[in-house]
Amino acid sequence: MANQQAQSSSSPVRATLLPYGQQWLDEQDIEAVVQVLRGDFLTQGPAIKAFELKVANYVGAKYAVAFTNGTAALHGACFAAQIGKGDEVITTPITFLASSNCVLYQGGTPVFADIDMNTYNIDPAQIKQKITARTKAIIAVDFTGQPVEVDQITTIARDHNLVFIQDAAHSLGSTYGDRKIGSVADMTMFSFHPVKHITTGEGGIITTNNELYFRRLLMFRSHGMTRNLDELTRNDGPWYYEMQELGYNYRMTDIQAALGVSQMDKIDSFIARRREIAKRYTEAFSSMKGIVIPAQHDLADSSWHLYVLRWIPEFFNGDRKAIFKALREENIGVNVHYIPVYLQPYYQQLGYEQGICPNAETYYSSAITIPCFPKMQDTDVDDVIAAVEKVYGRFLK
Ligand SMILES: *Cc1c(COP(=O)(O)O)cnc(C)c1O
Repeated sequence: MANQQAQSSSSPVRATLLPYGQQWLDEQDIEAVVQVLRGDFLTQGPAIKAFELKVANYVGAKYAVAFTNGTAALHGACFAAQIGKGDEVITTPITFLASSNCVLYQGGTPVFADIDMNTYNIDPAQIKQKITARTKAIIAVDFTGQPVEVDQITTIARDHNLVFIQDAAHSLGSTYGDRKIGSVADMTMFSFHPVKHITTGEGGIITTNNELYFRRLLMFRSHGMTRNLDELTRNDGPWYYEMQELGYNYRMTDIQAALGVSQMDKIDSFIARRREIAKRYTEAFSSMKGIVIPAQHDLADSSWHLYVLRWIPEFFNGDRKAIFKALREENIGVNVHYIPVYLQPYYQQLGYEQGICPNAETYYSSAITIPCFPKMQDTDVDDVIAAVEKVYGRFLK
């Protein structure tokens, strides 16, 4: 009761909740979807190819295969990389569940390598330490949009004969040196969930320069089935199709793909706006002691899916939970990305123990994601900054 009275002594910075991320659709997007609805093909039509081509061209990859969602796309990548029972795949604990669940789907074993405390991305030195005779692949995640150390990881993968899969759900449009993410790893996954850079409602894609992976992804997406004459083991006639592997129905619809094509027209302005917002945050927060702003990589240019602030506990009266709640009371839709995957009950039951990635756990205990999405108005950005400053002032020792 006393607590409630203390809080009501000042009104929130905003009257309504600002989410941490949200799609931006316009009339062109709506029209693109309506056109499909009026046409002949709701699925397996021409929009899929058009979308795949557009994404492949944008990232500078030879091939792209669209999926129902990013998780299915990651599953496809694990299949294409021939991950199976007994195979180990090294990934980061600071990611969404899907980055390691996709390994479990294939009967493989996720192995968690700790993060670098600067970028919060998987630490290449930790990857090396986790390699065994059973390691088959690395799934590296461009957390928040900041690309992983792609050169180092490419070298590690080559030296140990591993497949390098990049989970780029956060990093469409990010660059590393002069290369766009999506053209670098053996396979790269992008997600089109509404909070990501562009949306198809649900959707995902794998980009690759490898023809074998491309063919395997196509097959996997559609029941493990092929009609390609050069892939058939026999041919009963013009109707003939053949199932050679166990696949799924992971096909994106044309409704989604048409939305994706239309959204891709706006990708550059979306990213420019995200970078603008991130710059304003960095200017506002970089001199606040006790707060750690995201590190900027020398070689990389992030497309800023997320903006994370770390609140170093020693500087504050009240823990992260109290600070988080205070920001929510200001109607700022803060979030936490992510709970280390191996701390999930399902993973604990599989035998993963607390403490295996100490940096990830330290990171988790102090991280708060603040809103960052292109549709945010300047006044929304002002509100976030004002709320952070207000809560900071209240909690600073
Ligand atoms: C969103 C996301 C995924 C999964 O993508 P969906 O399209 O939601 O299935 C995987 N990895 C990361 C890091 C993500 O943020």
